[in-house]
Amino acid sequence: MDKEIFVTRSSMPDYKEYTEAIKPLWNTHWLTNMGIYHKQLELLLKEYMKVPDVSLTVNGHMALELAIQAFDFPKDTEVITTPFTFISTTHAIVRNGLAPVFCDVKPDDGTIDETKIENLITEKTVAIIPVHVYGHVCNIEEIQKIAEKYNIKVIYDAAHAFGIEYEGNGIGVYGDASVFSFHATKVFNTVEGGAVTFNDHKIYEKLYNLKNFGIRGEELVTQVGANAKMNEFCAIMGLCNLKHISSAMEARKHIVEHYIRRLREIEGIITFEGNEKSTKNYAYFPILITNTYKSSRNEIYEKLKENGVHARKYFYPVTSDQACFKNKYRYIDIPCARSLAEQVLTLPLYEGLSDEEVDMIADLF
Ligand SMILES: *Cc1c(COP(=O)(O)O)cnc(C)c1O
Repeated sequence: MDKEIFVTRSSMPDYKEYTEAIKPLWNTHWLTNMGIYHKQLELLLKEYMKVPDVSLTVNGHMALELAIQAFDFPKDTEVITTPFTFISTTHAIVRNGLAPVFCDVKPDDGTIDETKIENLITEKTVAIIPVHVYGHVCNIEEIQKIAEKYNIKVIYDAAHAFGIEYEGNGIGVYGDASVFSFHATKVFNTVEGGAVTFNDHKIYEKLYNLKNFGIRGEELVTQVGANAKMNEFCAIMGLCNLKHISSAMEARKHIVEHYIRRLREIEGIITFEGNEKSTKNYAYFPILITNTYKSSRNEIYEKLKENGVHARKYFYPVTSDQACFKNKYRYIDIPCARSLAEQVLTLPLYEGLSDEEVDMIADLF
C-alpha cells in the first residue's frame, strides 16, 4: 500500500472559494463575537435543518454542555443516557454535576432501548440524553411519551444526525433540544463547531448568555457563562461547506452503496443501518463483525491496518467502562451495548474515496 486511507477526511471548499469568502474580514476586522457570518450561518442552518431556532457554538461538546446547563437541573440528579456513544456525551453530563445512568441499547440500530428507560427512572431523574448514533434515529415517540409521563427533559445528542429528516421534519425539532457537531470529521464541518436546535425561543437567550460569559451589557453580567462562541473564520467555512452539502452527501451515498454491494454477501458481516422512517446523511459506515465471520473484529481491524486502511472501533469500549467513569455510577447491565462495542467497525467514508479504494478495502475481508 502506498497510500494510507483514514476513516475520514475533512470536507473542504475550493481554496479560492474560501479565501475569497474570508477577504471582507480584512476590512471589518470583526473576527468573532456573533459577527455577520455567524448570523448568516444561523439563518441558513435554520432553513437547511428545518428547525425553528439554532444557536451556534465553538464545538459540539460545548453545545452539549451548555444545552444541559440551560435547563438548570438541580445538582446531584440523574440523567438517563447511552454508553454506546462518543465519550463527549457522558463527559457533558458529568461536567454539569449530574450522574449518568447508562441504559442499554437496541441490537438492530445501536440507539437507546426505549423499553428499558422507564425501569431506570427514580425521583432523581431529570432528563434523558439519547444519541442518534451514526444518524440512526432513536424511538422519538416512545421517548417523548416517557418524558411527558415523568415530566423530565429530553436532550438529543444529534452530533451524527446533521441534515436528517424524520417523517418530513428536521431531526432537530424533537425533544427539548438537540445538539449537533460540526467538527472537522463530521459530515458537515465548520473546522470546529457545533449547534443547539430547539423550539422554545427562550432557550436562545439562555444559550447566548452561556456561550458569552453571561454578558448582557457593558457593565452587566447576569449568569455564570462560558466562552463558547463560533468565530467568523469557522462560520465562513460552514457557509462554504453548506453550499456543497448535497453533493457531498450524494458522493457518500454512492460509496456506502458500493460498500454494501461488496460486503453484503460475506458470511458474518452485517451492515448496520438505521430507521426506515428517516432520511440518511451517510455520515458513517459502521459494520458488525459477528461470530460467524471467519476472524474476529480485532483481527480484521489489524489486517486492514497492516494494509494501510485505518478503520475505527467506533464505539469501543462503552463510555461507562472508561477509566474516568468505571464503577462510579449506578450498576446497570448493558449486554447489548457491550456486544455491539465488541463487534462494530467503522470503515473509511468520505467524499473522494474512490470505487477502486472501496474495492481494495472490500477485498481485504
Ligand atoms: C463529535 C461528537 C460530539 C462532540 O462534538 P465536537 O464538535 O467534537 O466537540 C458529541 N457527541 C457525539 C456522539 C459525537 O460524535
